[in-house]
Amino acid sequence: MNYGGIGVVIGHEITHGFDDQGSQYDKVGNLRNWWDTTILENFQKRAQCIVDQYGGFVVPEIGIHVDGENTLGENIADNGGLKQSFRAYRKWVDSVGKEELPLPGMNLSHNQLFFINFAQGYRNATKLTRVFGNVPM
Ligand SMILES: [Zn+2]
Repeated sequence: MNYGGIGVVIGHEITHGFDDQGSQYDKVGNLRNWWDTTILENFQKRAQCIVDQYGGFVVPEIGIHVDGENTLGENIADNGGLKQSFRAYRKWVDSVGKEELPLPGMNLSHNQLFFINFAQGYRNATKLTRVFGNVPM
């Protein structure tokens, strides 16, 4: 559950260093392209997939599409943080060689608990202003 909570938050913040804005700075913080052409083209192609995906989401309460361009950095960080934290959790399980014991009274796998805690954390943090990128986390 900690990987699904604070692990995702830490992964989110680290991923900002490689999102559409953070990726434009080199290792010492200078605004300079440090990626080769092929990597930059692949990044832009994948970033466009995220723009398109999020641009297809509608906030039902107000009937407005998410602006996938405006929220790109947050969406990259959300996806990267979740993916990296889950990978880290599974790597930890592999390193100890077995799954943790189940929680008493809970008929849920630890993978399910990871995602439940992730969803609860984001549910509590999400505000409509954040959806539109006005209050980046
Ligand atoms: Zn963020």
